[in-house]
Amino acid sequence: MVQAIVGANWGDEGKGKVTDLLAEKSDVVVRFQGGANAGHTIINDYGRFSLHLLPSGVFHQNVVNVIGPGVALNVEALLGELKHLTEAGVPQPKILISDRCQVMMPYHVDFDKFEEERLGKNSFGSTKSGIAPFYSDKFAKVGLQVCQLYDEAILRERLEIALVKKNVLLRELYGKPEIDLEGLIAYLQKIAEEIRPMVGDTTKFLRDADRAGKTILLEGQLGTLRDPDHGIYPYTTSSSPLAAFGCIGAGVSPVSLQKIYAVTKAYSSCVGAGPFVSEIFGDAAKELRDRGGDKGEYGATTGRPRSVGWFDVVATRYGAMVQGATELVLTNLDVLGYLDEIPVCVAYETESGERITEFPTTPTLMHCKPVLETLPGWKQDIRGITRYEDLPENCRKYVDYIERVTETPIHMVSNGPKRSDILYR
Ligand code: GDP
Repeated sequence: MVQAIVGANWGDEGKGKVTDLLAEKSDVVVRFQGGANAGHTIINDYGRFSLHLLPSGVFHQNVVNVIGPGVALNVEALLGELKHLTEAGVPQPKILISDRCQVMMPYHVDFDKFEEERLGKNSFGSTKSGIAPFYSDKFAKVGLQVCQLYDEAILRERLEIALVKKNVLLRELYGKPEIDLEGLIAYLQKIAEEIRPMVGDTTKFLRDADRAGKTILLEGQLGTLRDPDHGIYPYTTSSSPLAAFGCIGAGVSPVSLQKIYAVTKAYSSCVGAGPFVSEIFGDAAKELRDRGGDKGEYGATTGRPRSVGWFDVVATRYGAMVQGATELVLTNLDVLGYLDEIPVCVAYETESGERITEFPTTPTLMHCKPVLETLPGWKQDIRGITRYEDLPENCRKYVDYIERVTETPIHMVSNGPKRSDILYR
């Protein structure tokens, strides 16, 4: 059986924690898109970890962690994360990297930085980890698959083709030094050897696992609104964070996908550029930001302060719908315990004064203002509560409300950052 854990919103919803939790009862966890450009925070018995590229099943010895062909594989980042884990006492996890996965080149990271510098105030808020140049090359068919690293003739030929254009851009557009082909080949051959024991045919592995009745978790990165087709283009990422794409980026049959958990926070947070209608500012924002997550709302990869706002019904209902969510997992519910009243964004008001409840396209979204309603708060610290029934009444009513307005069932509610902070409804 295949299940997906994906973000309903802008990312950072708490997917890592939920994956770590569900991984306990799973056999395989697969990353299917993106690269080391976003982070999952996981807090368990080994400590606090920010995973960027490693699947969140790495803390479980029973789990095989797969890097699917849809991922942007930054080998150095992967090896660095693995080292960090083992140094912290985590037993060596089982990792399998698809031989069809493409490799993040050092020049992808450079081009990402150079382009953001060139765009200046018009930049898209990239994490500068090479993602857009990587996927551009992949679809322009000048990328390199892992399997191609092991054949020097192919490697040389592919790079010679790719570097012609790269060097023109470096020289003429960015005024930077050209790429040294021989140095690059030597570097790629070195990293290829380092990952060799982990490389294989993950598609066959997953098919066999699925046929044998194993549980496979697809772990999404970012969230619906960063999808290049369905999100807030152009403030999106370059690969699809949707559960449906999970089947492609991992290499499993779409008919095997039975459960789609869309994770959402009890409020909103957003890192990176783009319209964010329910955003709040000033002291109210500072208070929510500092109370949010496990250490305040600051990016796991970049350390950037996240913009915060109230729960956005319009964006989350849309986010859950586009994901095809079979359920929502509501995280960070504990964070709201300080509020007398909890504002919720129930609709948007467009530039012309029209009230809308369907998530619009970006040009309209840019001018939308939030229409807020308030719900009574529960004024209580709910961390440590272990039974859903023991939550304060107003807190349970808040969950009922979100379930109703997002039109998606909620069975799991998270009341703290630790693996054990979870309530089943
Ligand atoms: P991901 O990318 O979706 O895995 O999310 P991140 O790890 O970037 O951000 C989620 C943040 O919320 C992290 O700081 C988590 O430790 C934290 N977190 C997850 N669930 C809860 C929760 O229920 N309560 C609190 N207070 N923090 C949580």
